[in-house]
Amino acid sequence: MSSSKSIVKDKIVDEDAYAEELYNDLISSCSKHVKVKDIKLIRKAFDLAKESHKGVKRKSGEPYIVHPIAVAKIVTSEIGLGAVSIACALLHDVVEDTEYTLEDIDHLFGEKIASIIDGLTKISGVFDKHSSLQAENFRKMLLTLSDDVRVILIKLADRLHNMRTLDSMPPNKQLKIAGETTYLYAPLAHRLGLYAIKSELEDLSLKYRHPKVFDEILNKIKDNEKKRQQEINRFSLPIIEKLEKHNIEFDISGRPKSIFSIWNKMQSKNIPFEEVYDLMAIRIVFTPVSREVEKAQCWQIYSLITDIYTPKPDRIRDWISSPKANGYEALHTTVMGPNGKWVEVQIRSQRMDEIAERGFAAHWKYKGENSSESELDKWIKKIRLMLENPNSDALEFLDEFKMNLFSAEIMVFTPKGDLKTLPKNSTTLDFAYEIHSEIGNKAIGAKVNHKLVPLNHILRSGDQVEIITSNKQKIQKEWLSHVKTAKAKTSITDAIKAETKDRIQKGKSILETKLKNLKVHPSGRVLRKIIPAYEVVNKDELYSKIGSGIIKLDDLKKILKKNTKNKIIRYWGLQIAKTTSSSKPKKEPQIPKKTDKFNYKDPVIIRDGSDEENYNVKISQCCNPIPGDEVIGYKKPESDTVFIHKAKCPTAIKLMSSEGNYIVPARWTSQKYLSSLAKLTLNGIDRIGIASDITSVISNELTVNIRKIFIETHDGIFEGELELYVHNVTDLNNLIMNISKLKGVNSVKRSEEISK
Ligand code: MN
Repeated sequence: MSSSKSIVKDKIVDEDAYAEELYNDLISSCSKHVKVKDIKLIRKAFDLAKESHKGVKRKSGEPYIVHPIAVAKIVTSEIGLGAVSIACALLHDVVEDTEYTLEDIDHLFGEKIASIIDGLTKISGVFDKHSSLQAENFRKMLLTLSDDVRVILIKLADRLHNMRTLDSMPPNKQLKIAGETTYLYAPLAHRLGLYAIKSELEDLSLKYRHPKVFDEILNKIKDNEKKRQQEINRFSLPIIEKLEKHNIEFDISGRPKSIFSIWNKMQSKNIPFEEVYDLMAIRIVFTPVSREVEKAQCWQIYSLITDIYTPKPDRIRDWISSPKANGYEALHTTVMGPNGKWVEVQIRSQRMDEIAERGFAAHWKYKGENSSESELDKWIKKIRLMLENPNSDALEFLDEFKMNLFSAEIMVFTPKGDLKTLPKNSTTLDFAYEIHSEIGNKAIGAKVNHKLVPLNHILRSGDQVEIITSNKQKIQKEWLSHVKTAKAKTSITDAIKAETKDRIQKGKSILETKLKNLKVHPSGRVLRKIIPAYEVVNKDELYSKIGSGIIKLDDLKKILKKNTKNKIIRYWGLQIAKTTSSSKPKKEPQIPKKTDKFNYKDPVIIRDGSDEENYNVKISQCCNPIPGDEVIGYKKPESDTVFIHKAKCPTAIKLMSSEGNYIVPARWTSQKYLSSLAKLTLNGIDRIGIASDITSVISNELTVNIRKIFIETHDGIFEGELELYVHNVTDLNNLIMNISKLKGVNSVKRSEEISK
């Protein structure tokens, strides 16, 4: 490429002459089976491509026609396709980028070529424009768009050339293209058995995605090359002697390891370069006496080698009797080498080798005189069947995309289709922090593949992730256990520190102001009085709780006066009457009625004279009352626990009739800052965006916080559960009303039981 570039740049050469030069090179690289009529077709395609792209330049400055010619050359000499594919490769960008339409192609070249070009145009739309690709969609797309697998093969050639010339792209584009290539195209090439293309795509991607790593490994390979060659020679020499003695025509070489495969092993096994590189693999490619004895010869070679070196038991891989799904055939064994290291030996015939490197397409070359593209069509049919059948092969195909051949990294997509790389086991919260620390700090949930999931949801390759944020979100300590990336951990720790510091500062100044108003000097003695009164352990906790509004200082004056006789049990803002099992309440139990108006500023406290306050107040799990609900207390006989029930709770009603003596009136105080857990169940007609609409209604409700969201859809219906922290029934009812108003929502109900 460098020479052709210089031609263009040095003198503005006649584009036509330059293109002609490249064309001749293309034709000479076509294999012998291309006939005169084929050449005519290729020429016609070339002329149209040249004409339609005339005057257009690539990013590199070269005339555009360089690209289709290069793609056509890959199609013929690296994938081994024939004239129709070459013509299509030449025309692959014509409909998309020029004024020519599909109808024009149809008129000029007929239906077959037009349909392939149509596929190529569509596939490029899906790949390059929207690219919200997920393994499953990807497979479906391959199925619907490629009635002819040539579409995919030409697309792969297109991508390979783009990767080879990626240098001229701006860096952000480079990363996007390289990411897609590792994630989608390389596995696809692998699946189609195009090993050489797969390896090159992977290496090129790595070069742009992790340039430092790439260079490091490349240099290490260079440094070790000599030593390695010596080892290979030492191992091979006895084999060469022996095989020659048996008149076998063969080549022996060290199996080249791609930079990517070395890196991938280093990552997945967590071992250094040397350890990966140390594992030697030898490849023997032989020319069989005839096709019939090919298999027998493989075993003959195996036998000759194991006469020299001891094979490792259980390490024979016979992919001759049963080839791999992608067509790979070979005999693998592992033997003990002269320096006490295991060496993998791959035995292949020339035909097998070509299939291994170039895929099934290489097959037809060996099918005798009638070889034409129809042989390829058979193969295409086979691939199509493979894609269509929901058998293990197809599943394996899908898995390969989901696993994307990495084990150390996953690749996920933003809603716009941008690719993000994260370590394996990363969560939605990691993803949020990967995008921006502010997104992470405000994250309340996420949609993965349009399904609502929590922040600790573990992502898988291919997931498309949308983060739901709320300005009211507060960072929680437990988030640290939800994240995997260092970036997220640092951000969370920083944010917690900053927030705590802020709160303490704020709380301190609030307290100081209040004390000042009461004309009390904030001494240690004063604090020692305040700290136990608010049931906190130290100053910082006190300040922090004042700062966040959990502790309101309304009764500060009282506390300072140290009036122990009028103690109130405080629990979730609840005030209950005190009683003991031995003394019955003086009045009949008072069940609050709807018409009751609580004077919140001065709550009614019913006392029985006892000054003990060792009560355990528990919110009953059977009905889960929240502030605002009419409640009663049930004090268990012979115990200090008071259970709070809703007044209408069936259990409470039963208790009132049977154990009325132990019922005590209870009332909520209006401590707005206190939150209680409530659960809603809802259902409705599923539509796009319903989950986010519900979430945003909740986010708009200032006094409501989400604990858990779960929404499930099936057959066009959604069902969901929300667990929320609310302040009181009024707020909850408001929320229920607002959610009910949403389009598609059928019912929203408060549910009694709360999950733990
Ligand atoms: Mn192209």
